[in-house]
Amino acid sequence: MEVLKDNVLIVGGGPVGLSLSLVLAKYKIPSVIVEERVEPTALNESRAITWMPRGIEFLSWLGIEQDFLNKGVIRYYHQFESAKQILFTWSFKEIKSPYSYSLQIPQHTTEVILEEKARATGLVDIRRGHKVTKVGQHSDQVVVSIAHDNQVYDLCAPWGVGCDGTKSKVREGLNIKKHWRDYGTYSAVADFEMDCDLDKELSNIVLDPKRPYGFFYFAPGCWRLIYRINEGEDRKDVASKEFALKLLKEKLPNSNVHRFLWVSSFRLGQGQSETYQTGRWLLAGDSAHAMGPSAGAGMMVGILGAWRLGWRLALTMKNHPQSLLLLQDYSHEQHAAANEIQDNNATIFKNMSMKNPIIAAGRSFLMRNVLSKVAEIGKIALEKEALLRQSLPVSSATDRHIPSGWIEQKRARDWILGQRVPYIVNQLDFNPLALTGLGYTIFSIGKSYKKKEEELFQHLLNSLKIPMDAKLVFLAKSSLYRVDDTKFTFVVVRPDQHIISILREE
Ligand SMILES: Cc1cc2nc3c(=O)[nH]c(=O)nc-3n(C[C@H](O)[C@H](O)[C@H](O)COP(=O)(O)OP(=O)(O)OC[C@H]3O[C@@H](n4cnc5c(N)ncnc54)[C@H](O)[C@@H]3O)c2cc1C
Repeated sequence: MEVLKDNVLIVGGGPVGLSLSLVLAKYKIPSVIVEERVEPTALNESRAITWMPRGIEFLSWLGIEQDFLNKGVIRYYHQFESAKQILFTWSFKEIKSPYSYSLQIPQHTTEVILEEKARATGLVDIRRGHKVTKVGQHSDQVVVSIAHDNQVYDLCAPWGVGCDGTKSKVREGLNIKKHWRDYGTYSAVADFEMDCDLDKELSNIVLDPKRPYGFFYFAPGCWRLIYRINEGEDRKDVASKEFALKLLKEKLPNSNVHRFLWVSSFRLGQGQSETYQTGRWLLAGDSAHAMGPSAGAGMMVGILGAWRLGWRLALTMKNHPQSLLLLQDYSHEQHAAANEIQDNNATIFKNMSMKNPIIAAGRSFLMRNVLSKVAEIGKIALEKEALLRQSLPVSSATDRHIPSGWIEQKRARDWILGQRVPYIVNQLDFNPLALTGLGYTIFSIGKSYKKKEEELFQHLLNSLKIPMDAKLVFLAKSSLYRVDDTKFTFVVVRPDQHIISILREE
């Protein structure tokens, strides 16, 4: 038996497992990744192609966003169309993030960069070609059996995380139940290297009830076509190279295909595990919450989950007394975060499944004549899509407390309970994405009087339940950003940038 004492065991070296290892490494916690595949996802099987703004903020937090930006292509717009006309255009340029676009990049390239960065930390041992075949745990450790080179060896570690995808062996071995939501239809994804007259900065979905389809540019010269497989059609025939090429020529007669890359079909559905934590095991990414490919947020939600889990695991490895409660909070909060996205996806899936032309015409009317006319609706919807508006249910979290003499606010301008710190760098002399330590940050955003703020901060620190050091940030030069001149107001922010309290002097 190989015994790991100081390492977190991560089963699965996909985007989520690799991201988690990078978060842990940032906090100087070593990890071992056990990965069945010898190579990353194949370049032709592009799979996840979209990094949403909040995901790019995560890369920026890790300090590796430029490596991604160098290899990817940028999308500024997403458009909904009917078979006849444009219904609604979303512009990423309007959202509040330093990254007001999405980054399009094949999953292969994502995995290659993350792996290279993880290895470069010197704290991540990635074992490719090692497959976990059995999972268990005792009161003080997790245990796995691993097949490698026709041999089996056992390994134990203080904590383990299953990042092993939709068919998770870890989840199965721990008997964690999974619920499946099904939308009764299949969709197909086909990737091509080609020239065409489409705008490379814009993706589109044509909500044609006969067969919805759409195009996404995702790497230099590479396009993705997605389309629905209709009831009664043979799935194999429709998800074939011949069919995809025929459909492409029908929709884009001027396209010139240089190379066909990949086609595959997927059931429109999504899975949700009952819990993401049992004893010393945790689940993250698709093993916890599998998302359908057509809505395309699975990798993003999983990676944001790894960010939310990483600091808690780091504290756990440092034997923090509240660690078990903090990990339970991860399970509860990330479950809700995944549910929120899955509800959003459900709307997309229902739209993809819609076959009735009369209802589809009503939908087109609503989108073109109502939704597209109210700019705020589009902006909110896109900020949700960009994962900038994820609200975690923090009200019963272990690290939260409302001391006497203070009242809680759900919101103070752009500071919203449960959401990430607003990106206000233009008004501040401080970049919230620079919060990289394993500590909390308390922002003073109300009445300004430095000496008194420091005094109140110390008083708050003594009464709050936060499990580690905190530092105070004065928004002194930003009178623009102060929310109230009459009362002191403090915002408590976790290492993963989520706001867990907005406290105003009574
Ligand atoms: C066509 C398609 C398009 C998509 N588009 C997007 C998109 O644009 N944006 C987005 O955010 N998401 C997208 N997704 C979803 C995204 O691909 C997944 O959500 C993401 O890959 C999940 O990452 P993960 O690391 O949790 O799991 P996976 O990527 O599935 O990685 C799991 C890893 O665990 C390994 N493993 C499994 N079992 C074992 C074992 N027993 N022992 C050792 N290793 C094991 C696997 O080999 C694999 O490498 C798309 C998916 C598809 C199929």
